[in-house]
Amino acid sequence: MSAVPDGKKLVRSPSGLRMVPENGAFNSPFSLDEPQWVPDKECARCMQCDTKFDFIKRKHHCRRCGRCFCDKCCSKKVVLPRMCFVDPVRQCAECGLVSQKEVEFYDKQLKVLLGGGTFVVTLGTSEKSETMTCRLSNNHRQVGKTPVFGTNLFTKYLFLDGESHFEVELTRISSMQILTDGTSPGGGTSRASGMLIHYKPMGSEDAQQLRMEAVDEKKTASLWLVAMHKAAKLLYEARDQ
Ligand SMILES: [Zn+2]
Ligand SMILES: [Zn+2]
Repeated sequence: MSAVPDGKKLVRSPSGLRMVPENGAFNSPFSLDEPQWVPDKECARCMQCDTKFDFIKRKHHCRRCGRCFCDKCCSKKVVLPRMCFVDPVRQCAECGLVSQKEVEFYDKQLKVLLGGGTFVVTLGTSEKSETMTCRLSNNHRQVGKTPVFGTNLFTKYLFLDGESHFEVELTRISSMQILTDGTSPGGGTSRASGMLIHYKPMGSEDAQQLRMEAVDEKKTASLWLVAMHKAAKLLYEARDQ
């Protein structure tokens, strides 16, 4: 274990080298724990192709699911930012696909979320609404030069800025529901036009509601909403692990 600047440290696990925040409070809300590896003595055969292991056919563990495979079924190295690995790590075919999809999320959708969208926001059941820019935060720690995903992993809040500022901690969101505009011009699928978020404010166990509705630039807003929906799935997965 060695200390590096900006509050991160390198730790070595059996799966590889990881760059994690020194202070657990700065863990990403998207992060996943490393799996327990299936013990060697419990796996005599590859869990994918059933090949029997011996001196020549060696076992390999998938870093994402911890299951045990032969080299052929677990040869692909894929980046896995949600477990904070510095380098791409060995994964089975199934996990490799999931991780690849997540790379798309970090590369594209998270950028959309950081960029923000404009929505009319209504807090709770109040009659009052306000036009606000809604975006995910990325300024909670400048995270040096982590090779692939840099600061993005430190997104922790949904920021809403209009005349007032308001923020929701992502881990305190209990549900997100996409609202659609109902119309489908040209017979296409209807577009995401808003979102209903339920969350528990800091220090409270009572869920509050936040309603966001797209105004101008509906296309940008729609992209933002779809990205947020994807983020929600990753958040729930991280929370429920
Ligand atoms: Zn195999
Ligand atoms: Zn796997």
